[in-house]
Amino acid sequence: MERMKKPATIEMIEVPVPFSPGTTNCYFIPGSTPTLIDPGVYSPEAFKRLQSGLRELGADIADIERIILTHGHADHAGLAGAVAALGRAAVFVHRREEERMLVWSEKVRKQKAEGFHDFFGQAGVSQNIAAKATRVLLDRFRRNFSPISEMVFLQGGELLSFDQFELRVLHTPGHTAGSICLFDDSQGLLFAGDSLHAKIVPYISTECEAPVGEPAYFALEQYLETLEVLGALPARCALPGHGPRSLRPGELIGRLKRNRARRRQRIVEILQSGTPWMSQFAILERMFLGAAAAGVLYMGISEVRGCLEVMEKEGLVAAVVDGGPKLYRLNGQNPARQEAN
Ligand SMILES: [Zn+2]
Repeated sequence: MERMKKPATIEMIEVPVPFSPGTTNCYFIPGSTPTLIDPGVYSPEAFKRLQSGLRELGADIADIERIILTHGHADHAGLAGAVAALGRAAVFVHRREEERMLVWSEKVRKQKAEGFHDFFGQAGVSQNIAAKATRVLLDRFRRNFSPISEMVFLQGGELLSFDQFELRVLHTPGHTAGSICLFDDSQGLLFAGDSLHAKIVPYISTECEAPVGEPAYFALEQYLETLEVLGALPARCALPGHGPRSLRPGELIGRLKRNRARRRQRIVEILQSGTPWMSQFAILERMFLGAAAAGVLYMGISEVRGCLEVMEKEGLVAAVVDGGPKLYRLNGQNPARQEAN
């Protein structure tokens, strides 16, 4: 009689994060290539928790041979360099995340600062608020990333082998341009990173500018495609980057699609009732109270901008740039109202 295959061991260590959402799920897969998926943020507390979590499981940070990052945000990837420096782990990340992974360097932070200046300026954020939000973001980069220079770049489609199974790399842009999910076809297990969460709606980050030679990135459009791709997988369990796992990934995806459709409808309503030409920031202020809070401003603008990009492509909104912020109105709105303003 054929011996039943032992289910693969996958452990989860919840690592603290000094900003929202408070913790990140780090997955540890023991075996002949001990692997971490998303080690967490670079902080003494996170490092201690990861070390104690691994020790409870009979392992050590120095044993780790492979680190796979679902994307390059600090709460997932910040510790990667520090873990790699202690042992001999190779760090795997999608190539579109390279710049994010290098924000520990002052040179890259300076480039990012220029990008944020343009990003907030185009959105119609006042210089004071933009400067404060940029400081918060750059400070987060500086504190929460350990230096790393050697990475193995993924592009999607690769198969990563473990003792009892394989993980297929799926390029799932939307949350970031280089987000990936990892899928185990044999068990229907989906490591979802921040592409799917059971309790919170993942935000989409619109990039300041695509790297030279890379195609432009339309965050919401690509995120909606990602939801279709994930929805078509025979997934039985989604293991997200934050919060509880989900045994009904299909339901989750349906809920996220409905949520996006509601946000889009809200923007249409705001454009119908507001001044004829509105900036991304003016729309955001009406959508979310307290939107100017520095820590969430980037996320909020990204959401609105992503939605407007899709609506502009579909011809639903018209946009003008006249030396200042980009301004939008619904197509079909009476242009006379514009002159009257
Ligand atoms: Zn995250």
